[in-house]
Amino acid sequence: MPDLMPHDTIAALATARGRAGIAVVRLSGPAAADIARRCFAPHAPGEPQPRRMTLGRMIDAGGAPFDEALSVYFPPEASYTGEPVVEFHLHGGPAIVAAALDALLAAGARAAEPGEFTRRAFLNGRVDLSQAEAVAELIAAKSLDAVRAAHRRLTGALSDKIGAMRELLAEAMALVEAEIDFPEDDLGRVDPAEVAALLDETIVGAEALLAGHARARALAEGAVVALAGRPNAGKSSLLNRLAGARRALVHEQPGTTRDLIEAEVVLDGVPVRLIDTAGLRHAREDVERQGVELARATIADADLVVYLIDGAVGLTDDDRQLLADLPEARRVVVWNKCDLAPPDNASIELGALPVSAKVGTGVDELAARLARRVAGDAADGEALLAAVRQRDLVARARASLQAARAIALSGRDHELAAEELRQAAAALGEIVGQTTAEDVLNAIFARFCVGK
Ligand code: GDP
Repeated sequence: MPDLMPHDTIAALATARGRAGIAVVRLSGPAAADIARRCFAPHAPGEPQPRRMTLGRMIDAGGAPFDEALSVYFPPEASYTGEPVVEFHLHGGPAIVAAALDALLAAGARAAEPGEFTRRAFLNGRVDLSQAEAVAELIAAKSLDAVRAAHRRLTGALSDKIGAMRELLAEAMALVEAEIDFPEDDLGRVDPAEVAALLDETIVGAEALLAGHARARALAEGAVVALAGRPNAGKSSLLNRLAGARRALVHEQPGTTRDLIEAEVVLDGVPVRLIDTAGLRHAREDVERQGVELARATIADADLVVYLIDGAVGLTDDDRQLLADLPEARRVVVWNKCDLAPPDNASIELGALPVSAKVGTGVDELAARLARRVAGDAADGEALLAAVRQRDLVARARASLQAARAIALSGRDHELAAEELRQAAAALGEIVGQTTAEDVLNAIFARFCVGK
């Protein structure tokens, strides 16, 4: 077996770049304590206490002090990475951070790569792969619901479910293998129904996870919702109304007018990026054709399209044509300007929701409907399976489990059943990182930032 354990000691800024009250620089690896001794001089003599803050000064390679700082030593059994770790809490200026990193590198550390601290935590068994992925999801979360879902995964909620499924699978495997090893032994005869029952329970577990995937993914990644409709239907007004009412997050990108083109909002706990396709056109007035193209592409890529009918005009042939291109599964139809006129019959037939972007009528109901449409219901299943990678692996496991169940019940070809079970076990093992290929690990950790 190759030696995967790192021998070098890595260093990186763990907090965000820029000026702040405090910056934390983290050091992890076998030489962490040694390197720290050369870069940090405690004010009080004596060895630092594990997990206690020590006040002292940072010193550069020439021994000259450059900051008052706190340092904390974490022994391997109590550290994030499972290696000796030292954290330095410095004053949060870029020049101080640069000096600290220079000093640590001069003393023998190496600059950490993206996700390398978490990768080491995974290699040392501090977290499994699904928990390591949850670290990135937790940090990237855009709403409290998303934070809570990622936190549940970080603390092992998904790992526990996968672990329980793997145990059931192992039991089924033992039964099937007994059948292969002792086919003549009458006493050892296995009841196929017993194997099927174990597999059923595993399949139910897989299905529960898959049912919650849409919500988990929507929470983790957010959804893109495009506002479409004829000019003047009220798209910009509705975007501004939704953004204003729900406190736009992250960014508000203005168009040529003071209107927003995009807003990140949280609708019933679900982070949603709203894009006004009219705004895209206005912003590119000089190149109108490009704007129209961009609007079309945005509508095609969006998870959901809110189609606005102009209530002052009613459902037009234009609307019908545009709606014909939008499958029902991807659209929510709105009758806007309901303060001027109630929905006409044709629009009622389309299930249009009466809204007034101007007055605010129906906006809450629209927000709730959008959240439900992009993220499903909390009742659908627990939002544990966020990554598409994880979803695909559970789906693969389910297919193998179903195949194994059918073979087992037919009472024939136990070798084939065992092979399907092995495939299912391998797929589940990949979720937690027990059977994950190196290149998959590289791809996962490359998505992290430096310092995580
Ligand atoms: P867009 O071209 O689809 O983005 O439409 P706008 O948001 O720019 O709105 C076009 C016009 O309709 C503006 O004069 C808005 O004030 C007006 N408008 C938008 N929503 C409503 C509404 O709910 N009720 C009324 N009475 N007027 C609205």
